[in-house]
Amino acid sequence: MTIPVLTDTHCHIDAYDNPLTVLDDAHTAGVHVVAVTEDPGKYRLLRTRLGRRDDVDVALGFHPLRVGDASPHDLARFLRLLPQATWIGEIGLDFSRIGVATRKQQLRVFDAILADSQVRSRPVTVHSRAAERETITRLAQAQVPAILHWYTGPLAAVDDALAAGLWFSINPAMVRSKKSGPLLQRLPRERVLLESDGPFARSGNRSAVPSDLVGTLDHLARLWGISTSEARRTIAQNLLRLHTYDDEPLAD
Ligand SMILES: [Zn+2]
Repeated sequence: MTIPVLTDTHCHIDAYDNPLTVLDDAHTAGVHVVAVTEDPGKYRLLRTRLGRRDDVDVALGFHPLRVGDASPHDLARFLRLLPQATWIGEIGLDFSRIGVATRKQQLRVFDAILADSQVRSRPVTVHSRAAERETITRLAQAQVPAILHWYTGPLAAVDDALAAGLWFSINPAMVRSKKSGPLLQRLPRERVLLESDGPFARSGNRSAVPSDLVGTLDHLARLWGISTSEARRTIAQNLLRLHTYDDEPLAD
């Protein structure tokens, strides 16, 4: 029986000192990587740099904290590249202390991206720090069943996110964090995916890497009271459902 591959749905491959080594390690550990990008220019650069590899998808992104110093052409460029992108991310909103000054521009860009119907037929990984309710409402209205990456918002908004068909990606820092405990308890396992958010997330005292997903999976299996292989199967099925959501009716 073949072992289902794990997918790291949110990894900043271009932010490591040694992206190719990280990718090779991921490959050895049986982890497929979704390499998120922060703007359309970086998306194109990374695609060129990585060439054709079937163990990585480069995601087309426009990070909310990049929106403030982006040129007006970047949004047009993003929308132009959309048809060729297999994954979208990272996009979203950030109204934390460091992002709140560009709130208006962020909303304009996020709304423009969600208004393009092509976003609905691709997996999307979304940043929502300190803007969780705004992000969830917009994704629900646009009927984009995106992945909320490293969710740190109110637990009370989780039901709305689940009702909107959204997913949650869990990283190595989250399974170690007391703060994320109630969220992990609350999430139905059929809505959970994995991410490293490396190198920004920590795994113990070092930067997280995609191969850390194996340990995160063990942790979730214990939490769910099932075997690691069953947890692996569940998450692989979730990803399959995410890829085919276009054909399925959304919960209302
Ligand atoms: Zn990120």
